[in-house]
Amino acid sequence: MLFAGKNRGYGTGELNMSKDILEKGAIVQRDKETYAIAPHIAGGIIDPAGLRRIADVAEKYNAKVLKITSAQRIAIVGIDPKDIDDAWKDLGMKPGAAIGLCVRSVKICPGTTFCKRGQQDSVGVGLKLDELYHGMPLPWKFKIGVSGCANSCAEPAVKDIGLIGMSKGWRLLVGGSSGVKPRLGVMLAENLSDEEVFSLIDKIINYYKDHAKKQRLGEFIEEIGFEKFKHEILA
Ligand code: SF4
Repeated sequence: MLFAGKNRGYGTGELNMSKDILEKGAIVQRDKETYAIAPHIAGGIIDPAGLRRIADVAEKYNAKVLKITSAQRIAIVGIDPKDIDDAWKDLGMKPGAAIGLCVRSVKICPGTTFCKRGQQDSVGVGLKLDELYHGMPLPWKFKIGVSGCANSCAEPAVKDIGLIGMSKGWRLLVGGSSGVKPRLGVMLAENLSDEEVFSLIDKIINYYKDHAKKQRLGEFIEEIGFEKFKHEILA
């Protein structure tokens, strides 16, 4: 597993050192000696110069490999801890929120920008959501998926918030997750315009932030009941 830091059995000194390093956006690897760094690449969309810079940094600091992650990032794997600061400086990019209690990722499919099946602008809406929410602290980890059509290539049904582009607008799902306790998102609203999507998502995130305990959105909705949640958000 690439991002193995959370479950290691740290001693106190090692824990402090690892926390410091985590704050630098680096994640300890299975060898317990090297780290991965994964710059934020909104929507997985990057120009050739950015891609070349990532490859140059990987070579310069003797990274073992590059890994394309499920969150549409590129992790540079196998960095020596002493090189982490310099590698970030050379990259000139922000770290992706790969761990921690926050909005981890906004996964975006190619949508109407690139895909012939696209019904809605997943890239435009997804990048805006990324700009608004990526890294925002929340009660638990939080993922968003934005797909331009019902084929659901960005896996919206297993994200805390999922958007699916339909012919008449967006369908919005809430409460999905994968992992140990997989859960399918439930439809909260449909036929939404882009503006309605932004407004509803803002309400959902603020309501979750203000009322949830340390739990995924799906667990929170189950606890208070979907009808109550729906009423609170849509009222
Ligand atoms: S979800 Fe639809 S629009 Fe998006 S990449 Fe897949 S097929 Fe294309």
